Amino acid sequence: MFVPATPADRLGFDVCVVGSANLDLVVTTVRIPGPGETVLGSDYAEHAGGKGLNQAVAAARSGARTTFVGAIGNDDAGTQLAEVLTTDRIDATYLLTFERTTNVATGRALIVVDDHGENTIVVVPGANAQVTAPTPFPSARVVLAQLEIPLQSVGDAFSAARNLGATTILNPAPAAALPGSLLVLCDIVVPNEHELDLLGGSAALLEAGCGVVVVTRGAAGVDLVTHADVLHLDAFEVAPVDTTGAGDAFCGSLAARLAAGDELVDAVRWATAAGALATTVVGAVPAQPTASAIRDLLSRQ
Ligand code: ADP
Repeated sequence: MFVPATPADRLGFDVCVVGSANLDLVVTTVRIPGPGETVLGSDYAEHAGGKGLNQAVAAARSGARTTFVGAIGNDDAGTQLAEVLTTDRIDATYLLTFERTTNVATGRALIVVDDHGENTIVVVPGANAQVTAPTPFPSARVVLAQLEIPLQSVGDAFSAARNLGATTILNPAPAAALPGSLLVLCDIVVPNEHELDLLGGSAALLEAGCGVVVVTRGAAGVDLVTHADVLHLDAFEVAPVDTTGAGDAFCGSLAARLAAGDELVDAVRWATAAGALATTVVGAVPAQPTASAIRDLLSRQ
């Protein structure tokens, strides 16, 4: 059981993000090597990543008091990720750091990108596989999670969140089939089209007990699906350079606006603008837009 040193739960956060933090190690090469082959890379870069961390940054930049429940190793990668939380003023009370003696390292994603933009990715979860729901759970208006940490931990977090009266949002990414026991704890599920297919469609999710399904469709916009109807919102027109992090921008900013008290449709419109802006900047964390940039785009279109 993880008991935080500081009782920050008494503060009451707007948004609590429960999820992964990775260091992305990105190599650019002419051609992705086949089995047993060695090729020379042309470029190498390290970026903070992990859906949990990206979404926490998105929520904070949309103006939410944000706390992050996650885990890192006591290594250089962990230090870099913790710095991201500090820079974006995200509460790190519930960030668990594994000592070197435990042999649990910070999660890493090894990404090889070729000249055509094709990539291969190997994710080593490391500390992310050890993320658990803290006890006591931080009080927050909205609790947001994804699927890069153990499913059991997501379920535990949502149970605790429900008991504290929080709204729960699940971004079911990476795509996976989910048990009914988890779906029934989700007020809002935010899949992209691929994830929605794997989950059996919006009707199946609503039937399983989810309150609302918000389907993100990239440049085709968003569908807000309830038992009563389907409301479509168009995407904002932008000039995308890198769509990495668009879904994370959408989820984190949606949580922030719901915590601020927006109606769902207004929060979704805000998130649609945030997702669009995220495609105009390379990377995931650097691409997360600020509230003023989102407001600016909303006022222009
Ligand atoms: P994911 O990154 O999880 O696959 P999407 O690609 O559906 O998620 O993107 C999330 C949201 O970001 C979309 O619903 C949309 O509002 C916005 N978005 C994504 N791609 C574009 C784009 N090319 N133009 C405008 N908005 C976009």
